[in-house]
Amino acid sequence: MSETRVNEEEGKKSLNFIELIVENDLAEGKNDGRIQTRFPPEPNGYLHIGHAKAICLDFGIAERYNGICNLRFDDTNPVKEDVEYVDSIKEDIQWLGFQWNQIYYASDYFQQLYDFAVQLIKEGKAYVDEQSSEVIAQQKGTPTQPGIESPFRNRPVEENLDLFERMNKGEFEEGRMILRAKIDMASSNMHFRDPIMYRIIHHPHHRTGTEWKVYPMYDFAHGQSDYFEGVTHSLCTLEFEVHRPLYDYYVDQLATPGGYRPRQIEFNRLNLTYTVMSKRKLLQLVKEGLVNGWDDPRMPTICGYRRRGFTPESVRNFINKIGYTKYDGIIDVALLEHAVREDLNARAPRVSAVLDPVKLIITNYPEGQVEMMEAINNPENPEAGSHEIAFTRELFIERDDFMEEAPKKFFRMTPGKEVRLKNAYIVKCTGMKKNDAGEIEEIYAEYDPMTRSGMPDSNRKVKGTLHWVSAENSLPAEVRLYDRLFMVENPSEEKEKDFHELLNPDSLTILTNCRVEMELEKAKPYDHFQFQRLGYFNLDPDSGKEGRLIFSRTVSLKDTWSKVKDK
Ligand code: ATP
Ligand code: MG
Repeated sequence: MSETRVNEEEGKKSLNFIELIVENDLAEGKNDGRIQTRFPPEPNGYLHIGHAKAICLDFGIAERYNGICNLRFDDTNPVKEDVEYVDSIKEDIQWLGFQWNQIYYASDYFQQLYDFAVQLIKEGKAYVDEQSSEVIAQQKGTPTQPGIESPFRNRPVEENLDLFERMNKGEFEEGRMILRAKIDMASSNMHFRDPIMYRIIHHPHHRTGTEWKVYPMYDFAHGQSDYFEGVTHSLCTLEFEVHRPLYDYYVDQLATPGGYRPRQIEFNRLNLTYTVMSKRKLLQLVKEGLVNGWDDPRMPTICGYRRRGFTPESVRNFINKIGYTKYDGIIDVALLEHAVREDLNARAPRVSAVLDPVKLIITNYPEGQVEMMEAINNPENPEAGSHEIAFTRELFIERDDFMEEAPKKFFRMTPGKEVRLKNAYIVKCTGMKKNDAGEIEEIYAEYDPMTRSGMPDSNRKVKGTLHWVSAENSLPAEVRLYDRLFMVENPSEEKEKDFHELLNPDSLTILTNCRVEMELEKAKPYDHFQFQRLGYFNLDPDSGKEGRLIFSRTVSLKDTWSKVKDK
């Protein structure tokens, strides 16, 4: 159902600037009409929703133009990378609904890249520099001032070949020397001022073990990997725009003029309000125990959103709505919440749950009687059918649905007033019992038997409708409510403040005393529900492990985005 909805929306939308470029390349007959993209994550963390934006584009372009999209792990820094991340990345891409053609690793090309580096040394286009990284940085110059050439820049080819080989044998410690491209220390593009190609790393690699002691830099690996694979359109985020001339420079050394060549196109990153979108910072949250792991439902990771109850369709619809541009900005998280609300409204069955229960006794209802009331599963979708909910003399309602002395506009339960119990009867509150501390212990009401749903008096005008569950015929549950992880709209901009000070101390509320209707006994992990009047929830996978029902609130019912939009 939502599958077709996604496609219809995609079809109607006009082309984004990348699709226009692709269509133009096809029209010009470039690369024999072949379209090939790749999604190139570094396996140094879990994917976040920003990556979902790149995934939808990389796989989306391939799908739209009958091309292929490969998954390539950009595993050029063994210190930070791990197979745990490789596995999670695969799972998250598939959950979003995409399938790669092949899986590659930048490490597949270590030999080819090494050979290419040797070729550049032989051509006098690369040299081994023995200066410290500090000195090299100082010599870089500024965009308006040329850099200073290294004293090692003109060392003989034979010496460079020998040193590079020995770097890779492990003869030198890390940082002792590097291999640099010999391009132009006066270039107006800083990335051309003899960029680093290789550095020494002694840490074992998660795939190649201790085979290599030199590892290529991103700029020396990415374009060439694209080239070796046959990528036609290499899509990445705007910060790589200034790297593009270097990308082209290395590809120029490999490609035949007029023949196949990959091209890099940049688009704006996704940033969301009240969160951070960098693996480094997300890793810090996990490592310091500030959240409960990568899939904590407060995290902007794909697995976090999955656990929180977001659907792949809602994430894709959101990405589709925000589009692709050349300008960086920050997107209101309310837009993402709007997308999940819209999707769950169409698919989530309506059930009853009481988060902060107080007992309501229907004093004129026979003791021991149980009536099964029909509850419509989804008013948006007649095909979803209905289920039954037990009505009994003792019920639970929300504590804040009752007020002893209520203001005029309080249309919930208060002595002397009538209120409707959803799918059941109209009841009139007759009083309550308080404990010594003045807290309400029980509320009393009388029901009108002629007002059962479907009966003649059921249409009687009463202003409020409350949700409820039977006291005996309901189940205990834990409910977890989430709020934004950071208190400020754009934590990454608050450079002078410590990241810890910006965290919202109330981002997680755990309610352990909730009651849910019996229907939820059948719920499976990740199943979605609308708890009437409260929001969308899903069953947390911890439920199985801990042998009790645990629900996460995906999103509340109130749509702040629609309000913003309509202003
Ligand atoms: P981070 O800065 O969060 O660590 P990254 O860019 O280092 O992210 P990679 O694993 O290198 O992460 O990214 C894989 C792909 O995802 C790249 O093409 C990158 O441009 C893209 N990407 C990363 N973050 C975002 C984002 N916030 N929005 C859109 N695309 C992104
Ligand atoms: Mg990166």
